[in-house]
Amino acid sequence: MQRLLLICLVLAAAIVPAHAQQRLNVVASFSILGDFVKNVGGNGVNVTTLVGPNSDSHVYSPSPADAKKVADARLVIVNGLGMEGWLPRLVQSAGRKATIVTATEGIAPLKRGSDADPHAWQSVANAKIYVANIRAALSAANPADAAVFKSNAEAYLVKLDALDREVREAIAKIPQARRQVISNHDAFGYFAAAYGIQFIAPVGVSTESEPSARDIAAIITQIKSAKIPAVFLENISDPRLIRRISAETGASVGGIIYSDSLTDEKGEAPTYIDMVRHNIKALTQALAN
Ligand SMILES: [Zn+2]
Repeated sequence: MQRLLLICLVLAAAIVPAHAQQRLNVVASFSILGDFVKNVGGNGVNVTTLVGPNSDSHVYSPSPADAKKVADARLVIVNGLGMEGWLPRLVQSAGRKATIVTATEGIAPLKRGSDADPHAWQSVANAKIYVANIRAALSAANPADAAVFKSNAEAYLVKLDALDREVREAIAKIPQARRQVISNHDAFGYFAAAYGIQFIAPVGVSTESEPSARDIAAIITQIKSAKIPAVFLENISDPRLIRRISAETGASVGGIIYSDSLTDEKGEAPTYIDMVRHNIKALTQALAN
């Protein structure tokens, strides 16, 4: 009997890491933020995300399970800039115990009319600000692990610097006159500002509104007159509109680009770095020749 007890204790110790007691419970509003938190937090955090892979964070209906996740969290990491309009009610219903951390704090937002453009992560330089904010929030919540969060963040920032160089080198290969594409919604403003590719979209910075027939007609005219070579589908959006624009203009469909959401582990963009790499590959394949 004693021996059995001993075996059980040894097994339990092997299954539950010694550190588990101090792990921070962190909720990230969507997959890209979740990936940043995993990279900075490492083994020091349990990360759950609310909006799952290939899903749209602009229009999301939180479930009772999401309220439970928020109620159990020390930190809730959000993008802000108008991205998660559904969040305040969720936090309210969960009992408001967690600290809400806005990962875009300190980023000067681009404006689209009177709205802020929330897609700041599409510039890798901005992604580094997200990482700095997440590191500060994790360290404040668990100072005992601050040194680990610092070294994780530094290692990840080195990778992001390399990624930023990769994007610039890839875009440099695309002739200036061909640096124009169509995406479904206006999610690449920060990418455009940082790297010099023009994106035109029938849908605005949020997917909440549908484009009018007039908006679509205007884009079709623009594609024809500017000879825009390629249109792209997004993993979070219905592909029919883009396919119709392609059919009416002759612009080729350059595949999928990832704007607001990662894929699951088996997909082609399970991490932020994979997502940016996939996007520059898709853009250069469609535009470089
Ligand atoms: Zn978006």
